[in-house]
Amino acid sequence: MKYLYGPVISRRLGLSLGVDLIPLKTCSFNCVYCQLSSASDCVTRRKNYVPPEEVIDEFNRFNEENAVYEWITFSGSGEPTLNASLGYIIREIKKTASKKICVITNSSLIDLRDVRNDLLGADLVMPSLDAVSPEMFKKINRPFEGADVGKIIDGLIEFRKDFPGQIWLEIMLVKGINDSDEEISGFSEVIKKIKPDKVHLNTVVRPPAEKNVLPIDRYTLIKIAERLGEKADVIGNLPEVPQFEKGRLSAENLLGLLESHPATLREIMNSFGATRLAAEKAIEQLIKLRKVGEKRFENKVYYVLKP
Ligand code: SF4
Repeated sequence: MKYLYGPVISRRLGLSLGVDLIPLKTCSFNCVYCQLSSASDCVTRRKNYVPPEEVIDEFNRFNEENAVYEWITFSGSGEPTLNASLGYIIREIKKTASKKICVITNSSLIDLRDVRNDLLGADLVMPSLDAVSPEMFKKINRPFEGADVGKIIDGLIEFRKDFPGQIWLEIMLVKGINDSDEEISGFSEVIKKIKPDKVHLNTVVRPPAEKNVLPIDRYTLIKIAERLGEKADVIGNLPEVPQFEKGRLSAENLLGLLESHPATLREIMNSFGATRLAAEKAIEQLIKLRKVGEKRFENKVYYVLKP
């Protein structure tokens, strides 16, 4: 598959079929915690990064053969709203899809009306907001020149007015960067204005591209969630899934998963409902082919795509 990956198990959605409309690390931000790569030029131009009809055809072919997933999620190698055909692709996929559609976005372009209109076709939008002050925004997201976090917040407030679906706001908290009392109070005020259905607190659980980017412990995250109100919750660990479907752990699917994020052996087993032996074997083959390498983070071994 060229544009679809998975289905993979996601911490927030359960089984999800990924749709990737963007070449690897095509993004309007260069976050310090990014799992894809560090240093890259920020991109802000909306255009057809991939041919829309090819994505729709691939989905229609996949949909006929596989039905074991709960969500269709636009996410992956960068910022999906950079694709100018996002709205069209969502509408076309909806014509044949029996599952709900989610878009994960870094919110960078949400101040643009055409981006908000494109997102209206989704059932669920998961926008990120990692900072409320301009200084913190620059520090953690390292956005494109001229990016304005105030405009992003206004865009999220506008989007809430028009969007009838669910909005689950994600805040990625990094130790010693955006976890100060002041920033958390700022989030609290902004959440009241955006009115999301849920607020998910996340932290650095997979190896980031930059060194010295550290996670916040679970107890502190829970305390921060309490401060942010009843809609706020800490994203949990990956749920276990049964071996409902054999044979999904192919080299191609595994590379697709690792393209979206580094993964531990346990995550690979969970994502594909595979045994430890099968997951180890698949990884070993890709390591031999020099397509995959290992990276240690917080005492865990992650498998990552080799550049
Ligand atoms: S973490 Fe997401 S939003 Fe941030 S640079 Fe990486 S791909 Fe872009």
